[in-house]
Amino acid sequence: MSVPVFAIPTDHLVRLGLKISDSLHYQLQPHELVRHSLRRKEGVLNDTGALVIRTGAYTGRSPKDRYIVKDELTSGSIHWNDFNQPIDEVHFNRIFDSITAYLNLLPELFVRDCYVCADTRFRLNIRVINELASTNLFAYNMFLRPTEDELENFHPDWQILSAPGLQLDAAHCGARSNIAVVISFQHRLILIAGTGYTGETKKAVFTILNYLLPHEKKVLSMHCSANRGPKGDTAIFFGLSGTGKTTLSADPRRSLIGDDEHGWTADNVFNFEGGCYAKCINLKEEKEPAIFRAIRPGALVENVKFFPGSDRINFDDGSITENTRVSYPLHYISNALEPSLGPTPKNIFFLTCDAYGVLPPISRLTPGQAMYQFISGYTAKVAGTETGITEPKPTFSACFGAPFLPLHPGRYAELLGAKMRQHGVKVWMVNTGWSGGVFGKGSRIPLAYTRAMITAALEGALDEVEYTSHPVFGMAMALSCPGVPDQLLHPRNTWPDPAAYDEMAEEVAGWFIRNFEKYADGVDPEILAAAPRVAGKK
Ligand code: ATP
Ligand code: MN
Repeated sequence: MSVPVFAIPTDHLVRLGLKISDSLHYQLQPHELVRHSLRRKEGVLNDTGALVIRTGAYTGRSPKDRYIVKDELTSGSIHWNDFNQPIDEVHFNRIFDSITAYLNLLPELFVRDCYVCADTRFRLNIRVINELASTNLFAYNMFLRPTEDELENFHPDWQILSAPGLQLDAAHCGARSNIAVVISFQHRLILIAGTGYTGETKKAVFTILNYLLPHEKKVLSMHCSANRGPKGDTAIFFGLSGTGKTTLSADPRRSLIGDDEHGWTADNVFNFEGGCYAKCINLKEEKEPAIFRAIRPGALVENVKFFPGSDRINFDDGSITENTRVSYPLHYISNALEPSLGPTPKNIFFLTCDAYGVLPPISRLTPGQAMYQFISGYTAKVAGTETGITEPKPTFSACFGAPFLPLHPGRYAELLGAKMRQHGVKVWMVNTGWSGGVFGKGSRIPLAYTRAMITAALEGALDEVEYTSHPVFGMAMALSCPGVPDQLLHPRNTWPDPAAYDEMAEEVAGWFIRNFEKYADGVDPEILAAAPRVAGKK
C-alpha cells in the first residue's frame, strides 16, 4: 500500500534535486510506517505494540554540531553565540549537495507533509524527507497533521532533509565533525546529517519558530508546556530539559495544550506541535499513567532495553542512555485539546530541578524576581550515569531554552515581561529537584507532592497561606500547602544540618550572581534588585 491517495508533490522534490522513483513513500499512515520500519529492521515491536528503535551513536541532541547559515538575512538578526554557530553559504551548499547525493542513492525515501502552530494565523507548512521510515513516523507523531483537503494544495514553507546514515566529510563541509544540523532561513531548509536522534528534527523546527514568531509577528515563543483547567484558565510551565514540563502538564484534572513548545499571542497561547516527546526513564504506570498508556501502536520508543528474553520494556534500564524517549500524537492523551489553544495564562511556573537542594519546593515571585529567574534559567541536574559523572552540574540557560533561541535572550524576556505585567499573571518557582541535602545525601521531592503544590497554586489555595521570604533568594515561600507536609516547604528545615544548607545556598547564589553579570548592563534596576543576596557581598 505504498501508493499514496494524494498525488506525490514531486515539483518541490525535483527542485531540491531529488530523484523521484516508485519507492518514494508519501504521507503514509502510522501503521504503514511501522510496517516499513519492521521490514527495514529499523526497530521491533514491544508487548504493547509500540515501535522500539535505537537512534545509533547519538541518543541526545548535539548542540555543538548545530549551525545557522550566515547570510544577508541572518547576519545582523541572529544572536551569534556557542549555540547559534554560523556556517557560510559555500559550506551550506556542500552539505546540501552531500545530503541530496546520499538520499538519491537510497532505494527508498519517506516524505511527509505536515505543519506547525495550532493557531492558523501562524501556521507554517513543513515537508519532511526522511531516509528512515521511523523518523517519518516521528514527524507524523510530533507535528500537526493536515487533512486530506489541506493536502490538495499543500505548499511547503520549509523543508527538512534528514539523512542519519550519512557521514559528512567534515573538512570539506566546514563542520566540526561528520554530523551536522544546519538551518538556512534564506532557503527555508533544515539539513540533518549523521545523527538519528529524532529530537534534532523537533528542536530545529522549534528554533526556526523562535526566530520567525518574535521577530516578524510579535508572538512570544516559549520552551514550555501548557494546560487548561476546568474553568478555562491556562497555566504554562517553563523549564529546561528534565525539570518536569511533560510530566507536570499531564494532569488528569486539566486538559493538555502541549508539552514543550508554545506561542503567546495578543489573545491566546497555542501549541506549536501535534504530539509529545516524553522521557521514559523510570516510567511507572502509577506515577505517570497518561504517558505510560500512550506507549501503544503508533508510538515510537527510543533507546530502551527489554527485559532479557522478552519484549517487555525495562524502563529502569538506562544503559543505552538516561534520555530514553517516546513520541506519540497529542490525541494519545485522553484529555488533550485539539486544536491545542488556550486563553492568556493566569499562572506561570518556572520549573527547576535543583540537585543542590537549595531552592524552595514552591515560591511566589514578584515581577522583578520573575524576570531575573527567566533570564537566569537555572537548573542543576545529575548527568547521565553512563558518562561516570555523579556530581550535579549547575546550568544557566536564558529563557529556559538558550540552545533554541536564535535572537538575543533580551528580546524574549522583554516580551514576557510586558505580557506578565499587562495581564497580572501569577508567577511561581517550583523546585522539582532535591530536598534534605544535595544529590547523594537528600532525595528528590516526591512527584506527588510537586503535583499537590501545583494544584494548590492553580486552585487558589496558596492565596490563603502565609509566606516568608527566602533569606538568600528573596522569593516568597509558602509555609503551608494542602497535601504537602509543612516541613518540606522550607528547604532549610529539611536538611539535617542547617548550617550546611546556608553554606550551599550561598554557593548557589554566587553562581546566579556570576552568571547574571553578562546581563547586568542591559536590564532595569527592578530586575537587578531581585538578585540573591550573599553575605558580605552586594
Ligand atoms: P524535556 O525538555 O527534555 O522534554 P521535561 O521538562 O519535559 O524535559 P520531563 O520529561 O517531564 O521533563 O522529566 C521530568 C522527569 O523527572 C520525569 O522522568 C519525572 O518522572 C521525574 N521526576 C521525579 N520527581 C519529580 C518531581 N518532583 N517533579 C517533576 N518530575 C519529577
Ligand atoms: Mn518534555
